[in-house]
Amino acid sequence: MCGIVGVYRVDPGGLGQVATACALVNNRGHEAVGIAGYGTGTSDFFLQPGYVRDACAASCRPWTYFVEQTTEHRINQWLGHTRYKTVDAAGAGLGQPLRGHNPRFGEFHLVHNGQLPDHVADREVLSANYRFTSASDSETLVARIALSPATTLADAMAEIVRDVPGGYALIAMTKSEMVAATDRYWTRPLMVSIADDQICFASERAALPNGSAEIKALSKGTLGIARRTGGQVSWEERPVITDTPRAHCIWEGFYFGRPDQPMDGHVAHEFRMALGAALMQAMPSTEVDFWCGVPETGNESGLGLATALNQPFYLAAIIKNWYLTQARAFMLPDQRSREAKVRQKYTISDLVAGKRVGVVDDSLVRSTTARVLTQMLFDAGATEVHWRIAAAPIVAPCFTGIDIPTFEELAAAGLPPADVNAIVNGMIGATSLYYLPLATMVEVANRFDQGWCTGCFSGQYPPGLVPGELVQLAHQA
Ligand code: SF4
Repeated sequence: MCGIVGVYRVDPGGLGQVATACALVNNRGHEAVGIAGYGTGTSDFFLQPGYVRDACAASCRPWTYFVEQTTEHRINQWLGHTRYKTVDAAGAGLGQPLRGHNPRFGEFHLVHNGQLPDHVADREVLSANYRFTSASDSETLVARIALSPATTLADAMAEIVRDVPGGYALIAMTKSEMVAATDRYWTRPLMVSIADDQICFASERAALPNGSAEIKALSKGTLGIARRTGGQVSWEERPVITDTPRAHCIWEGFYFGRPDQPMDGHVAHEFRMALGAALMQAMPSTEVDFWCGVPETGNESGLGLATALNQPFYLAAIIKNWYLTQARAFMLPDQRSREAKVRQKYTISDLVAGKRVGVVDDSLVRSTTARVLTQMLFDAGATEVHWRIAAAPIVAPCFTGIDIPTFEELAAAGLPPADVNAIVNGMIGATSLYYLPLATMVEVANRFDQGWCTGCFSGQYPPGLVPGELVQLAHQA
């Protein structure tokens, strides 16, 4: 999962705009930020590890150099990317945009959010005619575009939507056009704003400009094409595959997306509150002195549960140390760094001393956060710690964009459903733990939007999204 943005303008400028847009999708990945621009016949490129705010600081020499270059070359179209690696861990510094060249339509850049489960087989075929420089799955898309017989970038992107399974949202550009694409299930989100003087794309609504522009989600299996005609930009929406059921990643709603991300007339925050409220039916009556959440998304579901129960909710029981770190521990690449990050990331307040504490989190993947926080809560004097998880047990890997690649890493994988609450509670050492049942989770999700992928909760992936042998593996778990 990554954050991607595209800005396509009539007039030169917009570097600050694309940098800000990248910062507004930094929640989706913070291993590297990359920006590419095209202007008066010139391309340029900027890539730094870490957060956008650090990479684009006035004190950062590569950034100041990039600002000079882009001004000189009158850049007016941009791609931006914030990286969260799922493939090619060794290349953690490898960010995007990626660059390629097609003999018919020339140089292009591409940014990719998602994961291509079939990329190894694809690479074998493509490598007969293309020299790969990384193990990144995204580079297979660059190879496909570079080798495409199509005469335009848009036609080459249509081939990808038609032929490549997996979950993805893409934006690519040549010096004349910018083309965005969504996979046939709309697994990954892509929003677009359309105005006379600029067309912008972003993984999240918050990264698009406010004002008079039309703002909407790019539909599943569809291309969005921006071109310049006269003194205006023109917009074309080209459906490629539309006869597939929608299967949006349910994680986008309860965890990954920002709380203000639209959900069919609602926003993600309302969904998270409702998941928390639904926990009320999923657990036996529990005596606690107050409820709290694991910041940030756990707070939203925790507030939903406490509100439904009409019981106290404390925002300041588990404090996230914003000025020390903003990293999502779940997104770090190894177990040791994840555990250290949890201890660094949170402080437990004295509010918990002598109290029975109910803690809500949005999900439980490897159990790292719950285990370390349970210990920290008891160390701070809590007499009981009751965990409530506002999602179902995660029992199978994701092959299309979230870094939960093996069964061994998943706390709940392979456990008998009747005992999963007790066994996982034993792993984290709390007083009690209850998950939200999957059927309840889906019922709540369907109140907010229709058509969800729940593969990592059920082992059932949308047909065709994941190659057969990987589905087989998930069923054997
Ligand atoms: S398997 Fe899970 S994480 Fe992956 S797309 Fe489906 S719901 Fe999202």
